[in-house]
Amino acid sequence: MGYAAFDPKSPLSFFRFQRRDLQPHDVQIDIQYCGVCHSDLHQARNEWSNTTYPVVPGHEIIGKVVAVGSEVTKFKPGDTAGVGCLVDSCKDCSECQADLEQYCDYAVYTYNSADRYTGKSTYGGYSNNIVVRDDFVLHIPENLDPAATAPLLCAGITTYSPMRHWKVSRGQKFGVVGLGGLGHMAVKFGRAFGAHTVLFTTSPNKVEDAKRLGADEVIISKEPEQMRQHAASFDFILNTVAAPHDLDQYLSLLKRDGSMCLVGVPDHPHPSPSVGNLIFKRRKLGGSLIGGLKETQEMLDFCGEHNITSDIEMINIQNINEAYERMLRSDVKYRFVIDLASLQDEPSQDGQPGRQVNPVAA
Ligand code: NAP
Ligand code: ZN
Repeated sequence: MGYAAFDPKSPLSFFRFQRRDLQPHDVQIDIQYCGVCHSDLHQARNEWSNTTYPVVPGHEIIGKVVAVGSEVTKFKPGDTAGVGCLVDSCKDCSECQADLEQYCDYAVYTYNSADRYTGKSTYGGYSNNIVVRDDFVLHIPENLDPAATAPLLCAGITTYSPMRHWKVSRGQKFGVVGLGGLGHMAVKFGRAFGAHTVLFTTSPNKVEDAKRLGADEVIISKEPEQMRQHAASFDFILNTVAAPHDLDQYLSLLKRDGSMCLVGVPDHPHPSPSVGNLIFKRRKLGGSLIGGLKETQEMLDFCGEHNITSDIEMINIQNINEAYERMLRSDVKYRFVIDLASLQDEPSQDGQPGRQVNPVAA
């Protein structure tokens, strides 16, 4: 059982469904915590025009292993385990061979994707349990608080992966655009990697927090004079903004051969940036999608060693619709995490069945 969106406009509500039968390579997890990513909101409201309803969002999942298939060797009942945005891939193509399963043409996402066993839609972590192929389950460092670790499974890896790819390190000037779920993790990693980390925000009330989280400088992006002072000075900028905006104001801050990587996925395209801004200093504009399983485990282990977790606000599942509205107002400090124990309080537990669609689906 869990919470689902049944159409783009209605609030999410209780939904009863079943997971697939345990396969030899499957791990069954009782979910304790699930982070709330802006992608969940985009998908619940069909802002990327690809949602199949009902959709059970959630891809920042932490829980306890309760059962394993006969071929599973890496997990046992009682282990704390994590699941991120991917639950399967072909494991055969050049992307999978390179440990970049996120770029596999047959990648199966944790929700709103076709399950490779049943062909039915996958359902995500706003639910009490999940069944996942063992190669796509992650080990969670024991020293980290499980609730605050959940957001690492998407917000953490989505920022860590491009920062590693573009080799963010000591001696570099590194910019982060937007202090939300992804952005606050990027600031923490920027500090941990030793780069001079500068946060761009539209919210003046986040300045002190950004410094506490690890930013060396904070720029209010609506202040042209503050922006101008940093012209042509950045090695790399990671842009996490979830809405269309002017990219030129950031491209002009890159030095020669500098790069900006987009990870935010707005519902409408950004205005096209000016060619001049790119060619005169050989700047690059790119993108990046989450991260592969090997790198996700590396990121979790790095966080264990450096004691890095997300700053979270815990909510009950019954407050998810209000949380979405606050996320749209950039009013989250800095990731909502659902305590799935609250699903037990659902009134429909007391005799009312909740909505059922495809009750024996994936
Ligand atoms: P979030 O918590 O809502 O944070 C987004 C931040 O962007 C806000 O806190 C705000 O920061 C800033 N912002 C929002 N609207 C803005 C606007 N109109 N102009 C300028 N800044 C604005 O969202 P999130 O969970 O971090 O996700 C961010 C985006 O990344 C979403 O589009 C999500 O779908 C996408 N995403 C992509 C991947 C991937 O693999 N590429 C993975 C996960 C998520 P300030 O208040 O500081 O300005
Ligand atoms: Zn996400």
